[in-house]
Amino acid sequence: MNQQNVVSLWGSFKTPIVNADDYIASLRGRKMDVFFMGERVEEPVDHPVIFPSINAMAETYRLASARPELASADSNIAGARVNRFLHVPGSSADLVQKHEMQRELGRRTGTCFQRCVGLDAVSACHSVTYDIDAECGTDYHQRFLAFLKRAQQANIVIGGAMTDVKGDRSKGPHQQADPDLFLHVTRRDDKGIYVSGAKMHQTGAINSHWLIFMPTIRMSEGDRDWSVVGAVRVDAPGLTYVVGRQTNDTRIVDGGELDAGNAQFAGQEALIVFEDVFVPHEHVFMDGEWKFASLLVERFTTYHRSSYVCKTGLGDVLIGAAAEAASHNGVEDASHIKDKLVEMTHLNETIYSSCMAGAYRSKPMASGACINDEMLSNVAKHNVTRFPFEIARLAQDIAGGLVVTMPSERDLQNNEVGSLVRKFLQGRPGVDTVDRMRILRLIENMTIGRNAVGYLTESLHGAGSPQAQRIQIARGMQIEDKKSRARLLAGVKTKTEPN
Ligand SMILES: Cc1cc2nc3c(=O)[nH]c(=O)nc-3n(C[C@H](O)[C@H](O)[C@H](O)COP(=O)(O)OP(=O)(O)OC[C@H]3O[C@@H](n4cnc5c(N)ncnc54)[C@H](O)[C@@H]3O)c2cc1C
Repeated sequence: MNQQNVVSLWGSFKTPIVNADDYIASLRGRKMDVFFMGERVEEPVDHPVIFPSINAMAETYRLASARPELASADSNIAGARVNRFLHVPGSSADLVQKHEMQRELGRRTGTCFQRCVGLDAVSACHSVTYDIDAECGTDYHQRFLAFLKRAQQANIVIGGAMTDVKGDRSKGPHQQADPDLFLHVTRRDDKGIYVSGAKMHQTGAINSHWLIFMPTIRMSEGDRDWSVVGAVRVDAPGLTYVVGRQTNDTRIVDGGELDAGNAQFAGQEALIVFEDVFVPHEHVFMDGEWKFASLLVERFTTYHRSSYVCKTGLGDVLIGAAAEAASHNGVEDASHIKDKLVEMTHLNETIYSSCMAGAYRSKPMASGACINDEMLSNVAKHNVTRFPFEIARLAQDIAGGLVVTMPSERDLQNNEVGSLVRKFLQGRPGVDTVDRMRILRLIENMTIGRNAVGYLTESLHGAGSPQAQRIQIARGMQIEDKKSRARLLAGVKTKTEPN
């Protein structure tokens, strides 16, 4: 496909995107309905609170330029080397490299760099469209491949929109008081479908070029109109974005950058409202095949739960920050501090090992895509729902109370109290007081500030709240097989039936 065709297919922004600067430029000038704190945002790229999240996404392009062996891959879809965030894993080696890339990006940004949901949506759609076609005689897989090939060639960002707002959680989509509480098809014509509803907590939505929307739960026969998968441009008519508030997000506009803790990078989540958004047939990848919704959710979450390996990169940063804080305080050699750093590292590497084990024990599927081991992926994500909280607690323990009581950068610059702050916030001799403050602000940022959204609460709920993993672990734990092994060794001849 030549440059002319790529541009006409993907809009007015400059494609193919080659590097981080191209990516940031590609976000400019789009006509999107974006709101933040009650105000319309005309140009998100120029918004000081939003830009750090764009910069975190841009880091994925910087890594692809700096380390192509890690952050790009050979795609048999485009027949070329493509960004790994647009590559469907075809082997265990692909999944291993994917996870190494995710950890590295976590280290580089200290936050959510926002591209994993889209990658995992692409990966899940690859095999599920193939399987729907095999059973239903549809042509979703070819449509999907054509879409993905263009995305790879243009080197764009695809966001993954799964979580519906869900209303009454005890009821399915068609049982809700308002049909829009789950995204659904409102009408169909010979050109395509129209969808309405909303997707909640959408990571990097405004920083993406396209969105793949997917069902968030198992569907029943009455939910045919809610059983829909498709791709839309983020600037499609009918889409409205309300950017979520993050803790301390406006520190960045308070003056200076020290108080932000991590002034360069942040995550982003938005509520996306769909009002009769048109999706042409070529971008519809499921429409009514309700039985396949649960397969899509399971495959997506299997990929996505292992993608939380990224949090080990954030863990690396936080462990380093805790060690720095201890050093600034002159206690780095104290045995309990060393032990706490060991504990933090043990927890962090436990997450890493379960994610990597799931990649090494991956399985090929009929479509040619390869998927992480389902049990290990659920175990990995379940670890992520807990261990970062303990790592954060230990980081705050080591940091001391100053992590939450420290005067501001403005006080530091004030003629009357600045010298007092410098004098009384000093650590051990030889340590710059401002450096000490910077490290404490980073720990604050990651444990109760803006990037705690990505490090903690996203770790808890992203890719499904803890109970979602426990359900999958219960399904796969093969308890009858385990009981029979126990009976065999104990010499028990009678099999007890479950109560
Ligand atoms: C920072 C962040 C980023 C995210 N990014 C994305 C993204 O990019 N794309 C995306 O699609 N999603 C994203 N998510 C959404 C994430 O997948 C959801 O938060 C998660 O699936 C939980 O859904 P919920 O938040 O609606 O919580 P709820 O469904 O309200 O769950 C709250 C509690 O209720 C329990 N519960 C829920 N339903 C039931 C039920 N029927 N019966 C019994 N108990 C129930 C849950 O187990 C949980 O304990 C993100 C979330 C966060 C926090």
